Amino acid sequence: MNAREPFSVAIVGAGLTGLTAAWRLQNAGLRVKLFEKSQAVGGRTMSIRQHGFVFDTGAITMLPTYAKTVALIDELGIASHLHRMQPVIGIPRGGRMHRLDLSRPVRSLLGTRLISFGAKLRLLKLLRPMIRTWNLSNYQSLSSLADWDAESIADYVRRELGDEINQYIAGPIIRGNTLNSTECAPVGELFWMLRQYAAPFVSGFDQGINFLAETLGKRLPVHHGMQVDAVSRQGERVVVGGRGPQAVFSETFDACIIALPPPELLELAPNLSDRQRHFLQTAKPLRSVSVHLGLRRAPATTETFVLPPESEQPDLTTIIMDHLKAPGRAPSGKGVVSIFFRDTWSAANFDRPDREIVDEALRMTGSFIGDLTADVESFVVQRWPYAIIKSELGLYGRIRDYEADIDQADRIQLGGDFLSMGMEAAVSSGELLAQRIQRLGLGAGGTGN
Ligand SMILES: Cc1cc2nc3c(=O)[nH]c(=O)nc-3n(C[C@H](O)[C@H](O)[C@H](O)COP(=O)(O)OP(=O)(O)OC[C@H]3O[C@@H](n4cnc5c(N)ncnc54)[C@H](O)[C@@H]3O)c2cc1C
Repeated sequence: MNAREPFSVAIVGAGLTGLTAAWRLQNAGLRVKLFEKSQAVGGRTMSIRQHGFVFDTGAITMLPTYAKTVALIDELGIASHLHRMQPVIGIPRGGRMHRLDLSRPVRSLLGTRLISFGAKLRLLKLLRPMIRTWNLSNYQSLSSLADWDAESIADYVRRELGDEINQYIAGPIIRGNTLNSTECAPVGELFWMLRQYAAPFVSGFDQGINFLAETLGKRLPVHHGMQVDAVSRQGERVVVGGRGPQAVFSETFDACIIALPPPELLELAPNLSDRQRHFLQTAKPLRSVSVHLGLRRAPATTETFVLPPESEQPDLTTIIMDHLKAPGRAPSGKGVVSIFFRDTWSAANFDRPDREIVDEALRMTGSFIGDLTADVESFVVQRWPYAIIKSELGLYGRIRDYEADIDQADRIQLGGDFLSMGMEAAVSSGELLAQRIQRLGLGAGGTGN
């Protein structure tokens, strides 16, 4: 490499991980090129704008604990597009909707008739493990929760707090956020979720959740329609090859970041240890099907999220009043509602026609927010073969093994949201990958500054 030339970095994947890494490296004077197989940026943060409605068909909301994401939004000058929504959840039980305002968790729980007085007292037992795990979980990695991944949430909660809390508190929170069941997820996930969701507000963009990725994409050299099929080493260089819109390509760089979900990462990464390969191979994809409705009039429901417990509706986990996220998400007086199914239902019904899936969504939501059938003006059915990793026992231990084998000085760095969860995990990973590559570039004396 010529010492005066900027250190060149290929970035595979223009989701939030790849975009954040590219943004940091470009600002540090390195030469970046993003390869994105689709025609859009943002990957699993997706917003579809249709007939005046804004549908978030991937990631749903951001939390106040997303410190790096919020800092990035500020830095990009788009904070005025971010709006706060009151985190009021509705949990139906026996024909009645019980409201819990997460910005006032203690007051809400004391006042609610969702659970019995005895169950409320038993909830206090959660304080001790929550305090013990408070600083263990973070968005970079959940490996420090490895001591809390041998028992399921359901087993732990039934034993320590009783089945009522499993059914009406832990169940809706876990199902509503991860589309998974408390029978599968390790107990560490409950403490992690409760810590995140005792929040004064949740945030959404007026333009849709993908606005952050789209803003980054406009300021970065993203090459669309470029599917990378192989990444390999050639001496001190890295060769990136694949198929472009017109022809196959092969280009050489000083370094490469592969910022993809586990299934794609497994296919491309040439530098995995046995333990890393094992983690990626056993990381089960959680499938998701969701329905997004543009409505002639907004439903009367004032809760922002409705989370049906399994006993009330096993196949439906989350109903979101998207029009409450920010102004401009629907034409005046109209509404946007998103409906998410349990992962097992999604897997079993993945290939059904859109219209049938919409009908199922309307049938399942009717008893909770009223029959919306006559009000549907526009809809989108979204399918994600890989939405997130499905939580299961032993997961955090395998994350710890994966992390222990990371070679921070490798020219090929791998990242994504898979060591933790969500958009903040993707942004954190992007920043970390950029730091490692920058160190490598400085070592080679090749930054452009
Ligand atoms: C239904 C659903 C709900 C969610 N809800 C939330 C939420 O409420 N809050 C939250 O914080 N997070 C949520 N998430 C998770 C969040 O969307 C992800 O954590 C985050 O977007 C991951 O970003 P990423 O860049 O790591 O991966 P991705 O977004 O998957 O980006 C990977 C990119 O790589 C591209 N690509 C793949 N293979 C190749 C290849 N071979 N060559 C070139 N390009 C390639 C893809 O097209 C994609 O653009 C949700 C996700 C889903 C699906």
